[in-house]
Amino acid sequence: MSPSDYLLSNEQLIEVLSLTNTATAIHVTEDAIIQLANDAMLQIWNKDSSVIGKTLEDALPELKGQPFIEMFKRVWNEGITISGTDTPADLIVNGKLQTLYFDFEYRAIKNAEGNTICILHTATDITDRFLGKQAIERAIEKEEALQREQALNEELAAANEELGAANEELNAINDELQETQNTLNNLNNELEERIFDRTLKLFTSQENLEKLNKELHDSETKLDQILSQLPAPVVVLEGPNQVITTTNDSLLSFWDKTREQVMGKPMLEVFPELTNQRFPALWKHVFETGEVITNRETQVIFNRPNGGKRLFYVDYYYQPLKDTEGNTTAVLATVIDVTDKVLSRQRVEEAENKLRMAIESSELGTWYYDVEKREYVFSDRLKQIFGFYPEDEVTNELATQQITDEYRDEVVRLVNEAITNNTNYQVEYAITGFHDKQLRWIRATGKLYPAHGVHPANFSGIVMDITDLKVEEQRKDDFISIASHELKTPTTALKASLQLLDRMKEKPSPIFPKLIEQANRSMDKITGLIDELLNSTRTTEGQLHLNKATFTIADMLNSCCNHVRMAGKHKLILQGDEHLQVFADEHRIDQVVVNLVNNAVKYAPDSIEIYFIVEKLGDMAKISVKDTGPGISADKIPHLFTRYYRADYAGSQYSGLGLGLYISSEIIKRHGGQIGVDTELGKGSTFWFTLPLK
Ligand code: ADP
Repeated sequence: MSPSDYLLSNEQLIEVLSLTNTATAIHVTEDAIIQLANDAMLQIWNKDSSVIGKTLEDALPELKGQPFIEMFKRVWNEGITISGTDTPADLIVNGKLQTLYFDFEYRAIKNAEGNTICILHTATDITDRFLGKQAIERAIEKEEALQREQALNEELAAANEELGAANEELNAINDELQETQNTLNNLNNELEERIFDRTLKLFTSQENLEKLNKELHDSETKLDQILSQLPAPVVVLEGPNQVITTTNDSLLSFWDKTREQVMGKPMLEVFPELTNQRFPALWKHVFETGEVITNRETQVIFNRPNGGKRLFYVDYYYQPLKDTEGNTTAVLATVIDVTDKVLSRQRVEEAENKLRMAIESSELGTWYYDVEKREYVFSDRLKQIFGFYPEDEVTNELATQQITDEYRDEVVRLVNEAITNNTNYQVEYAITGFHDKQLRWIRATGKLYPAHGVHPANFSGIVMDITDLKVEEQRKDDFISIASHELKTPTTALKASLQLLDRMKEKPSPIFPKLIEQANRSMDKITGLIDELLNSTRTTEGQLHLNKATFTIADMLNSCCNHVRMAGKHKLILQGDEHLQVFADEHRIDQVVVNLVNNAVKYAPDSIEIYFIVEKLGDMAKISVKDTGPGISADKIPHLFTRYYRADYAGSQYSGLGLGLYISSEIIKRHGGQIGVDTELGKGSTFWFTLPLK
């Protein structure tokens, strides 16, 4: 027998398969036509063999809507195996649809070409196992649930306990709360009462407030009216930023602004030009301290709208405005423009200053006598003239006492007369200085000014120190008397000589020539004096003409002063540079030298030797006339070269007009030279002058 002889036929195979305990079926086509199903399978299906040859759906219509028919389709078409465990399937068992659980496998059996020829369907009903397992699981779950419940119960009991305690606490709190609630209720009631009370009061005060408000409004309106009509310019600057809250027309016109331009704006925003002026600091001070500040005639500069500046002078009064608690809330500023007043006063002051300067530069003293109060005010210069110090308290009596006895009564009389009769007063008198005891001459002029406006009647005037004038006048008087006297001597001598000659004219006598000589000498003297007078006048009138030429000084000196040489009493000795030449008017210089020599002869008669000294000093020649006479005291030296000055004019020891040195100095000055004297009492005098060499 060949092995194939042993092989089972298909029917045999199917029979074998149908005998296995494992439920087995073989299906063909995608509709899973049941070709074979063993008993185990038919048992599962709860069908008999009549299902063989039917599609699965026809055999088990309850499978419709379950996934299995679809799975067979996929296994047949895709040639795959689908298996599952514990898979539920709803099948009709004993006429009732029941859910059974299976482990199953649908396996595609393929031929050599790989095409599915049938599906091997095996299944094991594990419903009991599954349900048992489920029951166990449920029992376990139940047990666990029980355990959990127990644990939870325990926890719950503990929590309950805690809760009980908490509850107690809560109750206690609740009680407290209740109490508080009660108190609160009471308070609430009280509060409500009070609020009611207050509201009532509020209503009343609201009414009052409205009334007050109206009153306030009325008074504000009134205040505004008053302010706007007030001639004094005022502004209220509110708060630290000085916001303009109120002002009036008067100030607006001073500011040259409209109400709209300023109201509600900070002062410095409207007038930035005030920032660097003194005012903001003052407003701040008043605002912070509540102090009042007033000031007069203060300069303020405003910008003009079209550029440029406007300068004003103002009197201002800054006072704090306070609230009911005494806090300063604003500054009330009153600003009065006093520019016109200040400017006109400045003009008056300027004029007064000019007058004062004029008076001071003229060295005039002034006095002011208040007729009503009988009070004198003396200027410092007047005090000085009267020999007082500026700090001395000078009364009219004291000043009157300084007038010399000779004039005092007369001056007092003239003053009274001028005041009574309203006449001008003019008088010259002498005084003795209070401190320095110096005699001074005064010319006083005064006038009564009747009362006008605020000025009382006053008797005012000026005094002038005319001492120098008086001295000059005195000197002139003296000079005239001296000149007359000087002229009188030779004139008398001339007259005497002429009378004698007249008497002897019939019978000439041997003394005739002597008389003629005497008459000539007298005539020379007169001519000399007249020359001197004429020279002096010419010099004063600037008519001194110079005829300059170059000459040798020594020659000029040797030929001059022959009258002295001839008289023989003095020796003229020439020293120094004999060749030195100058460019000058020889005749005038000769005249100067003669003057100096004559003076030496006159005032130093015992000085036998008179020296001429010629020196060259740079581009100048210096010529000195030196005697060894009495010399001149230092206090007289400054006056020697002035007109009419005679050092010893009161004495009559020496004759002279006091013109010689004056004329000499004028001549030298006209030549551009200098003249002077070196002298000391008891040591002789050296009069010198210089001349330009060219
Ligand atoms: P006069 O001689 O006419 O008085 P002068 O002008 O010549 O006038 O002199 C002025 C004064 O100067 C004199 O009065 C005299 O006192 C003083 N004097 C001038 N020369 C001398 C001298 N050489 N020595 C002393 N005194 C002099």
